[in-house]
Amino acid sequence: MPRHVDKKIIGFDMDGVLVDNCPLKVAIAGKMGYNIKLADAPSEIIKNILKPEDLKVLQSALYHDIKISLGAKLMPNVSDLLRKIKSKNTPYYLISRRSDPPIAIKLLCARGLWPKYFNEANAFFVVEPEEKNTKAKELGVTHYVDDETKILNVLADVPNRFLFDHLNVFPEAGHYTKVSSHKELAKFFL
Ligand SMILES: [Mg+2]
Repeated sequence: MPRHVDKKIIGFDMDGVLVDNCPLKVAIAGKMGYNIKLADAPSEIIKNILKPEDLKVLQSALYHDIKISLGAKLMPNVSDLLRKIKSKNTPYYLISRRSDPPIAIKLLCARGLWPKYFNEANAFFVVEPEEKNTKAKELGVTHYVDDETKILNVLADVPNRFLFDHLNVFPEAGHYTKVSSHKELAKFFL
């Protein structure tokens, strides 16, 4: 498609999309006495397994403990997709609900995504799910990828929503497109 008609503006969630925390969650939950499988680790599943107070402990370890947080890996082929998006000059953004941005940035640095692909100008940290919609609208995001249906449901102003489900644990859903890899996303984004 010629560049002048390519109006895509892409938005990414961080955890569960750029970053794979699932193995870490299994390990942390294991230490807390929960014998969960990888397929139980996505946010919208694990929250139904762990007691609320234990979920808080797990989230605190994952997102606020620098040592543990830095153990997260990237999703396969994410750097490759970002490199291609960048080379096409398609605008893209990170909109994350991480409440400790310095730790998020350290992780992205350690995994080679910051400042190569994300920096202060294209990375935004918000609090509430609805704020993701507000920020996406403000940035003119046309395509947004998240691993939680709860978030996609509130992104009313984003015309193209993608559910990133790398473990294939969610059923197909009506108002968004399910993808299981960054290679699959490339078909929509490049
Ligand atoms: Mg997420």
